[in-house]
Amino acid sequence: MTQFIDVAAVRRLVDRVGVAGFIKGMAAAMQDDFCRWDVFDKCPRVASHSELGVIELMPAADATRYAFKYVNGHPANTTKRLSTVMAFGALADVETGYPTLIAELTLTTAFRTAAASAMAAKALARPDSRTMGMIGCGSQSEFQAIAFHTMLGIETIRAYDIDAEAMQKLKRNLQYFGSLKIELVASAADAALGADIVTTCTADKTRATILTTDMVSPGTHVNGVGGDCPGKTELHVDLLRQSKIFVEYEPQTRIEGDIQQLPGDHKVYDLWRVLSGLEVGRDNDRQITIFDSVGFALEDFTALRYLGELASQFNEGETIELIPELNDPKNLFELVLDSSGIAHSRKAA
Ligand code: NAD
Repeated sequence: MTQFIDVAAVRRLVDRVGVAGFIKGMAAAMQDDFCRWDVFDKCPRVASHSELGVIELMPAADATRYAFKYVNGHPANTTKRLSTVMAFGALADVETGYPTLIAELTLTTAFRTAAASAMAAKALARPDSRTMGMIGCGSQSEFQAIAFHTMLGIETIRAYDIDAEAMQKLKRNLQYFGSLKIELVASAADAALGADIVTTCTADKTRATILTTDMVSPGTHVNGVGGDCPGKTELHVDLLRQSKIFVEYEPQTRIEGDIQQLPGDHKVYDLWRVLSGLEVGRDNDRQITIFDSVGFALEDFTALRYLGELASQFNEGETIELIPELNDPKNLFELVLDSSGIAHSRKAA
């Protein structure tokens, strides 16, 4: 039988451990997986583009578990009352191919993206970072805010969105979240200037320039989340040129990340090598660092295994017969026999 974790089960799991606990647990599991980098089968995701968006399949596997995620990115979806990003995924046993778990990954992707952002920032941002500029206050924003508050000690977030209602929603949703202060500001520049960390988390399927060099102070860490698709960017190319850039998986980020604007031989650094202690992150306190996040399948492998482990621990979710339970594995046909063992060519009216 296959473990099945739907949205309601994820909500109950989050309720058990708390939003911050869920992000911290996910980030710790993710760091462990990034430090096992070499054992994973990896490839860039397979993307199917249309005029309005993209649908992607993201596989990753180690010696025992295979994972994939289905995810879309349709920035105009919110006008149709649908999320920009929607996802589900599965884990399978490598030895037999049996799918052991199937789960919702829309809510979980917001947690995993925030966990990845905060994990990277912990390794790359100045440790005394206390203020974050947040440009884009959509679905991902609260998760990002909480991850940076709980994992990095960010105390104030200066938030901006072209949609004033989205800004109000962010403030409202986080009004009781610990000591985190949310200030709504009038422009992207007001959010970014002087901040220790800047998160760009906008959605527009175009070569946008959300952040320019004049908006970023020396020593800032930029967490670039929304530039994650060919032809969809957020960071000005001059900002990329003057910063030290870190990526999840270079072959994929070259296609999808903000670095698609740079020549293919421009040096970028592997986040996993920093997390594993093989390389330093930032070189000094005045350097601008960028995490050019696109979302990598290994993070979804972590998310799925973390969900599965938590669900087992709290006895959450259910089991479903996704794969037939057969008396004889060579007799799949038994499933279409009636109780007297007969297959009818035509059902009686
Ligand atoms: P969303 O549609 O819910 O929110 C996006 C917000 O950006 C909206 O409120 C919109 O008004 C705002 N926006 C658009 N253009 C802007 C601009 N020029 N200045 C300020 N605000 C602007 O989307 P979401 O689910 O929050 O996702 C945000 C982005 O993150 C998307 O581009 C998505 O593809 C990307 N994403 C990346 C990862 C990753 O792993 N890197 C994971 C999930 C989502």
